[in-house]
Amino acid sequence: MTNTELNRKICKKLGIERHEVVWKDCKTFNVKYCSCGYKYGFKDEEHSNPDFAANAKDLIEVLMKREDWREFKREIGLSPHSPKCLFIDFNYILNPRLLCERFLEWEGK
Ligand SMILES: [Zn+2]
Repeated sequence: MTNTELNRKICKKLGIERHEVVWKDCKTFNVKYCSCGYKYGFKDEEHSNPDFAANAKDLIEVLMKREDWREFKREIGLSPHSPKCLFIDFNYILNPRLLCERFLEWEGK
């Protein structure tokens, strides 16, 4: 699975709208439109998607806002009783894909 596919799945699970190029205007060259109707500029970095597969912090921040965060915390080995103290397996930070896959696995059950 590519990072894009992984991010796509995570966004779907989390209900986050993902922006995808759906249409290119061949006549005016380089004009692209997003699935939400947005028209891309030449240097468009603002209209982008979260990259959970590359950054564990971004996924954790979103998951922390969920009601089932305590359960997922337990799932990845964090103490459910220490809300501020996060000791996380270093492998999740080094390879955020692991955290994404773990979340999808857990969510799918
Ligand atoms: Zn969009």
